[in-house]
Amino acid sequence: MVIARDPSLRAPGASVDSARLLNLLDRAVQSIYDADSPVEAWKRIARPSEVVGLKVNCLSGRGNSTNTILVEAVCERLQQAGIPRTNIVVWDRLNSDLDAAGFPVSSRKDRIRYIGNDAAGYETDLSIYGSVGSLLSTTLTRTCDAVLNLPVLKDHGIVGVTMALKNLFGAIHNPNKYHIAAGDPYVADVNMLPPIRQKVRLTICDAIAPQYEGGPSYMPQWSWPFNGIIASRDPVALDYTGWQIIEQKRAEKGIEPLRAVKRERPTSPGRPIRSISSAPTTPTSSKKWRSDTMDRRAFLKTATLPCLAACAAENAPAKPAANDAQFTIEARFYEKLPYKKIKCKLCPRECVIDDHERGYCGVRENRGGTYYSLVYSRVCSAHVDPIEKKPLFHFAPAPWRSP
Ligand code: SF4
Repeated sequence: MVIARDPSLRAPGASVDSARLLNLLDRAVQSIYDADSPVEAWKRIARPSEVVGLKVNCLSGRGNSTNTILVEAVCERLQQAGIPRTNIVVWDRLNSDLDAAGFPVSSRKDRIRYIGNDAAGYETDLSIYGSVGSLLSTTLTRTCDAVLNLPVLKDHGIVGVTMALKNLFGAIHNPNKYHIAAGDPYVADVNMLPPIRQKVRLTICDAIAPQYEGGPSYMPQWSWPFNGIIASRDPVALDYTGWQIIEQKRAEKGIEPLRAVKRERPTSPGRPIRSISSAPTTPTSSKKWRSDTMDRRAFLKTATLPCLAACAAENAPAKPAANDAQFTIEARFYEKLPYKKIKCKLCPRECVIDDHERGYCGVRENRGGTYYSLVYSRVCSAHVDPIEKKPLFHFAPAPWRSP
């Protein structure tokens, strides 16, 4: 675990000094791999024949996504270590997110690729571990031999903090399902999926301008210049360290600790994920990961009963409840995405929502790729209040009002 900082990394109002950032990166990576030179260290991360994926975090646009200068620095060092540019893939969930964060989206194979999972695709078979069942990105499973995880140090309104472990939600097709219960145990379970455990070799967390509240959307009022990077081969240790940094800043600013607001560290004590770097690297032997052991018959057996129950509930005679249709209209301020997903643009959270899912606020729903508000014209607050208490007291008391 290395925290590398440089107070002069970014002058107020200026962009990051690329030479200083490269220097920080070199110090961190050289220290982790105990190498004689930075290039020697990078050579230990991947071989020239391997395809290296850089998993960035682009949810917050240019404000607080993985810094493009950090990604350029990593690409430069990988190439100096012998990895051809055609073997480097920068990826995240959506092409539009990459574009919004300032990356030149391109799937051309004669250069560094910048590609979203929506363009590259997902596996068709579910990968299952514990409570998680997801389709994995083919960029992770098929394209990349090794992955460098490049998250951002920031607060997350639901799962506490989002750094190394949570960033791998970007490798699955249905991350929205796993944000409940502060991400516990989902964050840990996603990171137990073999392609993730086997391929992620190093995490370099962008801590240039972390955010201690209001995440994951960019909220500049809660960002501060930490001017550093945190690097480790152990994502759990990295997340713990980052969490402490965020808590320290929250305390300094008089904000409640994450534990107090029920946003705790995103690793479940009951899960075996304690330190990935020291865990066995042959997790395909794990019986809990069932993609390679569950055949169609077993899947149908497991899935049929819950499906039948769900269908029965769906088709049950409607209760004599109020007709909500009058409150449901197509929403405004959203963008349609591939695979019937949508991106809500009503508030700074900018939820990306799968079909039949709702956004974080729970009042907008994706139905077959069209987004609906479920509360249009609903009264959100009503009470009886004498008008004399209002600022209208003494409004027009003049005698001319009398007959
Ligand atoms: S779904 Fe709700 S919480 Fe998410 S961006 Fe839209 S308004 Fe905001």
